[in-house]
Amino acid sequence: MYMEQGGLTLPSHTYYINSDPPSKAKVKALHTLVSTVLRLLGHAADESEAAAASVVQVETDIAKLFLSHADERKANSLPPLSFKQVAQGMSTPGFDWMLFFRALGIDGKVLASDAKVVRVLDVNYYQALCKLLASKPVGYWKHYLKWNFLDPLIGHLGKDFQHADLMFRKTLYGVDKDPPRWRICLHTLNSFVPVTIGAVYKDATFRADSALAHDVQTLLQLLRAQFNKIIAGARWMSPASRTVAQKKLALMDFEVGGSAHVKPLPFHVEEVGGWFNNSVHIATALVAHQIHKLGTIEGRTDWGEELGPMSVNAFYNVHANTLFVPAALLQEPFFPRQSPLSSDSHPGAAAGREALSLRAQAFGSIGGLLGHEMSHGFDNVGRLFGPDLVIKDWWDPATKLQYTQRAQCVGHYYHSFREAGRRVDGNTTLGEDIADKGGLHTAYNAMVVHLASQGHHSQSDIALAKIHFFEAWAQT
Ligand SMILES: [Zn+2]
Repeated sequence: MYMEQGGLTLPSHTYYINSDPPSKAKVKALHTLVSTVLRLLGHAADESEAAAASVVQVETDIAKLFLSHADERKANSLPPLSFKQVAQGMSTPGFDWMLFFRALGIDGKVLASDAKVVRVLDVNYYQALCKLLASKPVGYWKHYLKWNFLDPLIGHLGKDFQHADLMFRKTLYGVDKDPPRWRICLHTLNSFVPVTIGAVYKDATFRADSALAHDVQTLLQLLRAQFNKIIAGARWMSPASRTVAQKKLALMDFEVGGSAHVKPLPFHVEEVGGWFNNSVHIATALVAHQIHKLGTIEGRTDWGEELGPMSVNAFYNVHANTLFVPAALLQEPFFPRQSPLSSDSHPGAAAGREALSLRAQAFGSIGGLLGHEMSHGFDNVGRLFGPDLVIKDWWDPATKLQYTQRAQCVGHYYHSFREAGRRVDGNTTLGEDIADKGGLHTAYNAMVVHLASQGHHSQSDIALAKIHFFEAWAQT
């Protein structure tokens, strides 16, 4: 469990503090949203206005306590704690953390145990927040708390509420139209119950014994072998850290397609007119499930609540050391449907060049992408989890220092890029940039090995493959 600063409706705390016109417009849009929603719920206009002003005031006060995003990231290297240690170490007189954790529904046994499962991103923020809490009367918090209850529900209410929300998002993101209703429904189901709804898609598009599935497994094993070579050649890692990294890589599990078992829904579904109630039931059940999982190591093949077969994405679960490859990723432009890696799908010499380009494309797109996910097991967060899936920093100080220096080098490199007139913040994107570099490197090496196994050794073959490889990566 991560405890991080939060409690704001707008996506960045700087909007509340900055005085530039775009920031001010966003705060004003929040005010309008709160007052409109309260009016729609039957409150008088002046009452709604006053409540909205109060919500904006409280959020602005909280925003002032926020730490910069750079400080937030440092926290990932903090040691994990038990709940008891959190309660003792916070130094927030007047705030009973154990009472708070119990109210969240966390099991008493987990709270009393020494299991180190909490990472507090910044103690200073909580101390400042508790000071604010103690310094204000109950009335100050009343509207803010009510708003926090309402905010996540607005999207599931009627047309007028949806419209108010759209106007808010228009100021925030420039969205001026909601997607068609069928898309909203599908998106909601796919984010709430991805495995259940995705089972239908998976059955129609994916078979575990198909040539396609076989190709993906071949690709994953090739990537693993090349990644292992890269670790073996990483002289900056101490031999002990290297051995653990290789063990972790060898134990990494690959799940392709979708969940083999679809569990029954853990809530009751109202079939008539039940959109709002069903949404609340699902959200409540999902939160309860997350809290229930605390202190346990979930099944390694558990696709979880976030990712289903319909996601056009791949995902590495740091808690399970498992790489998930949903069925929907196994299509153009990521993966040619005609089994690009199997030799027997490209008979004859005439098909040689075409086969070569298809193979190179597969490595450049899905190969790079899966290599990217694989390397998340060893990045600034992944390295905090050992091969046994327990939180344990298995890098010695010298290796850590070497890693940080090399990571800075990547950060500086990406900082030299510009996008839409602005510099890339190499620190913010660091984890993803390292994964991109590592993934691409792994996929390229894997491609060269694979092509050689198919008789493509010549310089001209490799030169052609290179073009298709990088073209595919650029398009992914
Ligand atoms: Zn990533």
